[in-house]
This record gives sequence, structure tokens and C-alpha cells, in this order.
Amino acid sequence: MPILPPLRFRPILRDYLWGGQRLATEFGKPLGPSKRAAESWEIVDHAADQSLVSTGPLAGRTLHELVCNYGLALLGQQAAFRQFPLLFKLLDCQRTLSVQVHPNDTQAALLSPHDLGKTEAWVVLAAEPGSKIYAGLRPGIDRATLEHAVANGMCADCLHAFEPQVGECLLIEAGTLHALGEGLLVAEIQQASDTTYRLFDWNRLDADGKPRALHVEQALDTIDFSRGPVNPTQPTVTTVPGVVRLATCEKFVVDRRTAGSTQQLPPDDRFHILAVIEGQATIRAAEETYAVRRGETLLLPAERAATELLLSDEAVVLDMYLPE
Ligand SMILES: [Zn+2]
Repeated sequence: MPILPPLRFRPILRDYLWGGQRLATEFGKPLGPSKRAAESWEIVDHAADQSLVSTGPLAGRTLHELVCNYGLALLGQQAAFRQFPLLFKLLDCQRTLSVQVHPNDTQAALLSPHDLGKTEAWVVLAAEPGSKIYAGLRPGIDRATLEHAVANGMCADCLHAFEPQVGECLLIEAGTLHALGEGLLVAEIQQASDTTYRLFDWNRLDADGKPRALHVEQALDTIDFSRGPVNPTQPTVTTVPGVVRLATCEKFVVDRRTAGSTQQLPPDDRFHILAVIEGQATIRAAEETYAVRRGETLLLPAERAATELLLSDEAVVLDMYLPE
């Protein structure tokens, strides 16, 4: 009998200026008194931001406690046991987010307190007509050109922009300048980091009539100017029926599982974050069944019994885990 069962956590809702109601209307997330949420943090172990187990014998425990007490069972033999390495969230972008960049591991290690770098990937869950993604610099934009454009409020002219389709995936490596546009609903997997440098905020003012803080120097120092435009990934077929690879990098893998026959998730010494983004899934492990509805996330520990995944006809599940 495995030490840990499949784990469910309480979502942490974040209210930022650019949020809306869709995390509640689409996914049933509980909004706070402001009746608005920008992000639902589904799985997080980052300093004071902690997912709490919502049901079962471990209810109330933080994800960090599980990492400390059950590191091997949760993360497997290959992972370090200091912190859960990935953070998964859902975002409702009612307004375009600031143009920003995140450091890589080497840059973030120099910070105080030090952090992980942040490579992230987005899967587009819904897009209003005309919604845009800004990802990477247009060809030929160097530091001086970008700096000049930012000083003149013209940063957007330097950014590669396009209208994404539902289902597309973007891999945003650390050092890539980016912004999510208004009208997008997105699932984001990222390194468990919270270091962001804001380069440009679209010449906007906040609720108090003031511009939000920018970090222009840090952003310019962090941007990898050798990297050009970033476009959606090309999904690749895997050897497993119903499983398509949306993104893979040094930090994580994102697979999309769709309905077909019952899928097996044999023990592979790695945890899996399973997020149901369409339809519903039933997960069977060690004689127990777990119903996971659209908008819900389940964490399968690395050490586990043979696990089966039954998907409804319209189901789409994101399966996110560490690479080999
Ligand atoms: Zn970001």
C-alpha cells in the first residue's frame, strides 16, 4: 500500500486588478469578498504560499510539510526534497497583463531571499475574438532599441504578438519577455518561483491613479536578447494512445490526455499533476476512485499503485510532471 494517496488541495484565489469572474463561472472556484479573481493557485509550495490538502487523512497539511515528511514518496528518487518544484495555476485575464520577464535559476539564486528561476508554459483554455499573446521580441530588437521604446511608452512595438487558438501551448523560457492579453483564460505550469520584473504596464494607472512599480533595469538585465519571437508549440504524438505532448523542457513536461480507452498511469517514480480542463475524469488507484471535474486538479504521488484514468467523451486532461 503506497504511503500517500492521490492528493487534492484547496485552491488559493488571487485578486489582482486584471482578474474577473470566470474562475467562478467556468470552474466553480470560490471568489472572496471582492467577487473577482485573477488566479487560482492549484498546486503551490513557495514560502508562505502553501496549498493545503483538502480531504482525507492528511487534510490541513501544507504541500511543504508533505515534501518534508514524505519527500521520497511524493517526489520520487530523482528530485531534491526541499520544495515542490512546480506551481500550477489557472488565470482569468480580463485585462492585458504587464509586459514582464522572469530570471533563470542562476540569476534567481543570487537574489535575497533566493528563488528558483521561472520557466512557464501556458495552455489556452478560452480566448475572446481578438485576444492576443505577446511572446518574445520581434527579430532584431536589441537592448538599446527596447530601452528607448520603453522610455517612450512604445514597448508593444518591440513585442512579437499573435491571436492564439484554444488548445495552443506556449513555452516561455526564463529570460523571455511576455504578456498575456485581455480575454484569455489560461492554465499555467511553471517553476515554483514568484520573481517577476515588470518592464512596461501599457501606460496605465492603478485604482489610486498611480502607475504600478516597474523594474526596468532588472528586466533589461534579465532578458535574453538572443531569443526572438515565440510561437505556439507543435504538439507531438506519443506512443500512448490519447496522449499528445504539448511542451517539454528541462523543467517540466506537459502532456494532453483526451478520451479514448482507459489510460494507465503505471508507477514511474515521478509525481503527476492532473488538471481536468474539459469534461471529467475518474481516477482509480488502490481500489479507491476519485472523481475530478473540470477545473479541478489532482496530484498523484511518485510512489503509487497502478493508476487508471477514465475520461469522459469530451474530457481533456493536462498531465504535468518532471522530465527524466
Ligand atoms: Zn510570467
